[in-house]
Amino acid sequence: MCGVSYGQESQRERLERHLYTLASDSLRGRAAGTEDGQKAADYIEREWKKMGLKSMAGDSNYRMPFSRTSLQRGKGEYCNLVAFIEGSDPTMKHEYIVVGAHYDHVGVMGDKIYNGADDNASGSSCVLEIARQLLAKRSQLKRSVVICAYDAEEIGLYGSTAHVNHLKNSFQLSQVKLMMSVDMVGWYKADGELTLEGVGTIADGKDLVDPKALGVDIKVRTKKYETSMLTATDTEPYALKGIPTLAVTTGLKSPYHKPEDDAELIDYDGLDRVTDYLVALTIAASQKEGALASGHVARKHRDLKGFEIGLAAGLGSSNLNFPEATVDGKSALGFSGGLMVQYNFSRYIGMRINAMYNYSHCPLPASGDAYGKGYGVEQHSLLVPLTLQLGVRESGTGIYFGFGFFYQHVFDGGFYGDIPAGEPACEVDKNPGGIAWNIGMRLGHWQLDGTWYYQLSDFFETANGLPKAHMNMYVVTIGYFF
Ligand SMILES: [Zn+2]
Repeated sequence: MCGVSYGQESQRERLERHLYTLASDSLRGRAAGTEDGQKAADYIEREWKKMGLKSMAGDSNYRMPFSRTSLQRGKGEYCNLVAFIEGSDPTMKHEYIVVGAHYDHVGVMGDKIYNGADDNASGSSCVLEIARQLLAKRSQLKRSVVICAYDAEEIGLYGSTAHVNHLKNSFQLSQVKLMMSVDMVGWYKADGELTLEGVGTIADGKDLVDPKALGVDIKVRTKKYETSMLTATDTEPYALKGIPTLAVTTGLKSPYHKPEDDAELIDYDGLDRVTDYLVALTIAASQKEGALASGHVARKHRDLKGFEIGLAAGLGSSNLNFPEATVDGKSALGFSGGLMVQYNFSRYIGMRINAMYNYSHCPLPASGDAYGKGYGVEQHSLLVPLTLQLGVRESGTGIYFGFGFFYQHVFDGGFYGDIPAGEPACEVDKNPGGIAWNIGMRLGHWQLDGTWYYQLSDFFETANGLPKAHMNMYVVTIGYFF
């Protein structure tokens, strides 16, 4: 028997081969949900089969297809590839470290192919070689490693989200102790360092990732947490579940999301080095005794779903509006304070109900006189606005606006001051209501909020001889959510 020998291909040469294949024009930018994207999946699948990687079921069916419907794209069919390298420790092997990279990019726009060499053929190639090395060194692994090639990152982290949902549905999510997203790692030389964001989420994270301790010659910059509000990577769906995550990248020096992001520009020596480093880091993480989680999560990754309770206090101004008369009441200072309860359906939409004490008043001109005689109307009430809140809340910070209705229970109200002789008795409506809208800003626990209240019901009880009137209120509050 005589076989054809291709010689020994080095890791650096393999990285170059993967990258030139994945970022070649024939794959037309690997857009999610297209045949071009599936060609990239086919390539990764072939490589995994050749190296003898197994799926979680122990065979070579790595494909985890999923569909997702979105407003912009309708129903799409996508596919993650997932493989499993079992750890050698009888107890710790039930804990997983996920190492993943998205293989999709943005495809063709106009007549330009966006090859996405750095984003993210680089991470995909890197993870291919990480898997090969870990497979060879599996006896050193204590925890198990899950290798993921995600589809549809570029259109909204669909692939990583689908994987988290799969783990959740198969009761394996709690077994994931660390997740690493390798995204854009082809520009080491230009950046001069490899950046790891999220070391603060790992117990003794800084020591764990130290290249000296890992015996790899590489310059690493660590950031405690992912902070950018504008960029997201596949760490996010895991981090939102409280799993420690590392976003691994050589930064944004490459022609990010431009047709010029090509294989010729990639630093293959750097990519080779990054691969060795991440292999050493994964092994060290798999061997680390005790919990991997520090218990800290980036602000940006805090789950904002569910109930929030807070206190608010504020000042405002109010005035009486007489729809059938030519004069309006003058504005005067009012104040509010009380409880806020908000239910957040997601980071973008919530329902808020407040229960606030409110004092509003409005000076009136005595007939024929000027203002300032110390005469007017007032109300002490329980003010209950129920509003839908829409906004953007990233990193616990954001802006929002809301609208809805309010109800008041007036427990004391009527004329105050030097009531001119001859005024009829003042009976105020005990249960007025109307519409409310607000705009505000959230900074972590704090909130600055401006709300307009517009009474639709009459301020005075009808049939007591007083003109039709509504009270309008504008209130600025400072709130604190616990
Ligand atoms: Zn990317």
